[in-house]
Amino acid sequence: MKRPTIAIIGAGTVGVTTAYTLIQQPHVANIILVDINEVRCKGEIDDLSDALSFNPVTQVTIGALKDAAQADIVIITAGLPQKPGQSRLDLLDANYKIIKSIVQGMQPINPNLIMIMVTNPVDILTYVAQQFSGLPKQQIFGSGTLLDTQRLRSLISAKINVSPQSIEVFVLGEHGDNQVVSWSTATVAGKPLAQFFAKKELDNLAKQTRDKAYNIIACKGSTAYGVATCIAAYCNTIIFDTKTIVPVSCYVQQFDVCMNVPAVIGQKGIEQVLLPSLDTQESTSLQNAAVVLKSHIKTLL
Ligand code: NAD
Repeated sequence: MKRPTIAIIGAGTVGVTTAYTLIQQPHVANIILVDINEVRCKGEIDDLSDALSFNPVTQVTIGALKDAAQADIVIITAGLPQKPGQSRLDLLDANYKIIKSIVQGMQPINPNLIMIMVTNPVDILTYVAQQFSGLPKQQIFGSGTLLDTQRLRSLISAKINVSPQSIEVFVLGEHGDNQVVSWSTATVAGKPLAQFFAKKELDNLAKQTRDKAYNIIACKGSTAYGVATCIAAYCNTIIFDTKTIVPVSCYVQQFDVCMNVPAVIGQKGIEQVLLPSLDTQESTSLQNAAVVLKSHIKTLL
């Protein structure tokens, strides 16, 4: 991809941290920020412009939904964040209305646009964006359990002293309370990860991963850096067409919902969905996650 234009809709904590992460990389040509709060958005752009003095080849500008629709990649972070104690699913009613109006307000959309949903509950809103955008499903995915997967890999890394990227394990299903760890297929250099830990320790690692966002939100009100890093990683996979396998929230035909599974990501978005061969308990948990997501979708569409 030529040096791309990336639009970010929602210039709040996650949107601006993502913009800041992306401007550290000179291969991005333009970043367009869109927010209903134009004053805040202008202030963020002015602030970001101070960070551009070492990178004069990237521009950050304010835009409207119609401008975002003509970008190469659009990242949607607009909407309410969780308050302490709220689950991601608690945000559904309010954020469904916001995402529906944004996607409808973007029309007509560049047919080659890749859309990355971030707003929670991300799995359901990825599905909603697929329904209203008119884009092929493989061009829309959610930034979901890549973050949880990185959290889990980092926890394991600290215990076995191996780089997180050398640990082959995925967090799948819902980016939320019904997430599922693929322990049965998890390996380090071909050795089953289960050989390194007792069952109780595996359960504890999964719980710490699931609860991490709640703990950060309880302390500081929002999460930003991990998700921004994951979004930048997705963007690089698209821009450089690396065909990296990463967990994404994408349409899984077998369950007729969007949820998180490993997928090959390239310039055109999702190129292959690769569901690991899970054991019976993990498969049942994945199906249960799909049932929960589907029951929420039924209340909307
Ligand atoms: P925030 O409140 O700081 O920012 C949200 C921004 O959206 C605000 O600036 C607001 O003005 C804007 N906005 C609201 N309605 C809009 C509209 N119709 N058009 C344009 N802009 C609009 O919240 P945040 O902390 O940045 O979180 C944003 C979303 O990202 C939340 O839903 C949060 O749960 C989600 N999130 C997802 C992940 C993930 O891993 N997927 C991680 C962290 C946060």
